[in-house]
Amino acid sequence: MQLKSIQDADLKGKKVLVRFDFNVPLTKTEPRKITDTSRIDQAIPTIRLMLEKGASKIVMISHLGRPDGQVNPKYSLEPVAEYLATKLGTDVILSESAIDNGVKNLLHLPETKLVLLENIRFLPGEEKNDMELAEKLAQYADVYVNDAFGAAHRKHASTYAINAFFKNRAYAGLLMKKEIDSLSILLEKPTKPFVAIIGGAKVSDKIKTIEKMMVLVDTLLIGGAMAYPFLKAKGATVGKSLCSDEDVSLAKQILMADKGGKIQLPKDHVVADSLEGAPSPCPGTSIPSEQMGLDIGPLTIQSYSEHIKTAKTIFWNGPMGLFENKNFSKGTMAIAHAIANTKAFSVVGGGDSVAAVQESGEGEKFSHVSTGGGASLEYIEKGELPGIQALKLGV
Ligand code: AMP
Repeated sequence: MQLKSIQDADLKGKKVLVRFDFNVPLTKTEPRKITDTSRIDQAIPTIRLMLEKGASKIVMISHLGRPDGQVNPKYSLEPVAEYLATKLGTDVILSESAIDNGVKNLLHLPETKLVLLENIRFLPGEEKNDMELAEKLAQYADVYVNDAFGAAHRKHASTYAINAFFKNRAYAGLLMKKEIDSLSILLEKPTKPFVAIIGGAKVSDKIKTIEKMMVLVDTLLIGGAMAYPFLKAKGATVGKSLCSDEDVSLAKQILMADKGGKIQLPKDHVVADSLEGAPSPCPGTSIPSEQMGLDIGPLTIQSYSEHIKTAKTIFWNGPMGLFENKNFSKGTMAIAHAIANTKAFSVVGGGDSVAAVQESGEGEKFSHVSTGGGASLEYIEKGELPGIQALKLGV
């Protein structure tokens, strides 16, 4: 079954229920302010298109944080409603609850066009994929749109069960379509050479992504704490670096499977005696016993940048070091710039690498910056996600 795009939907005079992923980072103190609006910004084209197509009402669903099925003002979507209203230049009404009786009354008022339902994860039924909750939500509208790629790996009431009530009336939003199209290029028809850069903290977290990438790519550049188990598996010392025994044995298996020698590992590092310590260069692959590796070194930056320069397709997930600390962010920033300077088809996925790309100011130069961290990795592993499958089939 093909995914139907909202571009082909007839929305004239229709009430539309649309699932977005407005799970944005907020400041920790009141008044809570959104610190990165990209997920909302990327949803705006879908909202505008629905308005252009003459939708009579747009009822928006989202989650925010992990309130675990309980009302918690800390996770209210109020800052999102305010931002949307400013950005769209129109009223956005925030309901008290997603299944508030008042919502239906609200939808009868001719002047109400855009309604944002309060955090769907305030209701225990959401994460339980509850049919009753899905049915109540479905009563609000004639058509369902899913634009929440970042939540499509979840089997929840508003992403999964709900599709049962909208057979042949369910569509993918513009962002959902863009995410799937971009990731599908990597999986189905990447122009060679295809170079992937995988970093981050642990091999075990990304083992399936690494295994999949080994099949797809010509070169796999490994950085971040992820690199130390590989180096240890090859006989180097890693000092006090993050490196579990489990990860070393996984790394050994991957290296054994790497018959074509696709995997590249750091040739040098930036080290310190603690996470807060002063940075010092560490030439060579081994790290002294009292030191920990916290970034890739200049030789590695140069070598990885050369590989990136030759690529026609690039996928990046995971920082090259403890990039939140300026002393150890050089490697990650250098990779962001190297990718931005190519003409390759480039996709970055995963919360931390996306944050690094935004910080580098080079986001515009990437072909696609995925809004889904876990969702993009799971899509790469499996080529499908429950929320997308349900949208196709009306499960
Ligand atoms: P992940 O979520 O697996 O992509 O991991 C990202 C986290 O790994 C970030 O918070 C980085 O600071 C951290 N990280 C990357 N490299 C290192 C390193 N060499 N030592 C400690 N933490 C690291």
